[in-house]
Amino acid sequence: MNYDVIVIGSGPGGYVTAIRASQLGLKTAVVEAENLGGICLNWGCIPTKALLKSAQVFEYINHAADYGIKVNGSEADFTSIIKRSRGVADGMSKGIQFLMKKNKIDVLNGWGKIKKGGVVEVKGTDGKTVEYTAKNTILATGARSRELPNLPQDGKKVIGYRQAMSLEKQPKSMVVVGSGAIGVEFAYFYNSLGTKVTIVEYLPNIVPVEDEDVSKALERSFKKSGITIMNNSSVESVDTSGELCKVNIKTTTGMQVIEAEVVLSAVGITPNIENIGLEEVGVKTDKGRVVVDNFYRTNVPGVFAIGDIVQGQALAHVASAEGIICVENIAGHHPEPLDYNNIPGCTYCTPEIASVGYTEKAAKEAGYEVKVGKFPFSASGKASAAGVKDGFVKVIFDAKYGEFLGCHMIGTNVTEMIAEAVVARKLETTGMEVLKAVHPHPTMSEAMMEATADAYGEVIHL
Ligand SMILES: Cc1cc2nc3c(=O)[nH]c(=O)nc-3n(C[C@H](O)[C@H](O)[C@H](O)COP(=O)(O)OP(=O)(O)OC[C@H]3O[C@@H](n4cnc5c(N)ncnc54)[C@H](O)[C@@H]3O)c2cc1C
Repeated sequence: MNYDVIVIGSGPGGYVTAIRASQLGLKTAVVEAENLGGICLNWGCIPTKALLKSAQVFEYINHAADYGIKVNGSEADFTSIIKRSRGVADGMSKGIQFLMKKNKIDVLNGWGKIKKGGVVEVKGTDGKTVEYTAKNTILATGARSRELPNLPQDGKKVIGYRQAMSLEKQPKSMVVVGSGAIGVEFAYFYNSLGTKVTIVEYLPNIVPVEDEDVSKALERSFKKSGITIMNNSSVESVDTSGELCKVNIKTTTGMQVIEAEVVLSAVGITPNIENIGLEEVGVKTDKGRVVVDNFYRTNVPGVFAIGDIVQGQALAHVASAEGIICVENIAGHHPEPLDYNNIPGCTYCTPEIASVGYTEKAAKEAGYEVKVGKFPFSASGKASAAGVKDGFVKVIFDAKYGEFLGCHMIGTNVTEMIAEAVVARKLETTGMEVLKAVHPHPTMSEAMMEATADAYGEVIHL
């Protein structure tokens, strides 16, 4: 079988690439060893958001009295919550099946491996191998939960994200190691349902890639909701021999032992670069990732790589954007390389976090003289009406030319609001243009206009 493009891996990198390739008239196949949709649809973005929605509904019900509504008793049914999340993931995966069919993309089930001369070997679950040829092979094999040597995952007491979203029983206590997006989303989810949660973070702040003001605000909110946070701390070892895990934690004031039913390791990801033929074909890697140029070409002609296995933010929308650029370039178009400084990052706990561009600290370190504006949701009419007054929008502009350097938000709905900042930055608007663009009232998005006004000394509602 000869193809113009074979994509190995069907996550948001792979399946989106395959669809774009097909739209461009290229004969395309996608190889998948597990379920269509990759980590994102099956074990990442989507099932976690389903879990978080259940937690939010539960919280709403428990706070119904704040809205003048009496509810007599509520109970979270953990098994049903997990079942719903798995059902949502299955539905999404089936949707990709439909999209593959609609776009006339062949799905090759099995383990894909590149060989010399544009050959892709696919090993089915029956152990049989079939060889296909492709003018272009795009590696989109994604990543898995990273395991630290002192925190090996047994899948039962020390778990990764897959187990965390499919546990049979809700644990009474949990230590979450690492406070990136995955760590804090699970911390929020389990804490909301009544699990005693402790977060252990090596760095001085939780969600350490975010602006410090955002990290501090999330820390305050989490502590208020009963989550214990140990910053500047690291897990040295876990003793799993007893009924409860004994987690040995090095803190700034010495060693501490915390007992918990389950330890969730959320310390990042490891790209899947093993056993896909990289060495045989001579594809270069660096620090565990495939080395590519601006158009995702590896050093081997006809072999490309995108998504979590290459450098760049490990996010679904990044993987998709990379794949589209990669395949448009293959088709002879002239796509613009991706601007990695304009990638939004979102975290969907409550309060939500969303950001794009420079943090205040990073902008100053890069030599900018900055104009910073901030607008708290406590001053927003819509937030007051909705009873969600926690959080703020913070904007950072270059004082000299007005360039929109960064935007950082924490609060309800901010993951939907951040796109405005992404478009504004893409269009190279200045603060003045954001300020003069009339925002609808009453909305949470007015906070963006007001934060910008604050940066220019023109804020109205503060
Ligand atoms: C818990 C969690 C929550 C997340 N939440 C978000 C979020 O809210 N927003 C966001 O943007 N990102 C989120 N992410 C990150 C996001 O899921 C990844 O960045 C994204 O899935 C990467 O896409 P990909 O196409 O590179 O790889 P993947 O989605 O990992 O897909 C790779 C696919 O390749 C297959 N594969 C691997 N090797 C082979 C082989 N040799 N042959 C055949 N098939 C193979 C795998 O089975 C898999 O299906 C989350 C991740 C996790 C773990």
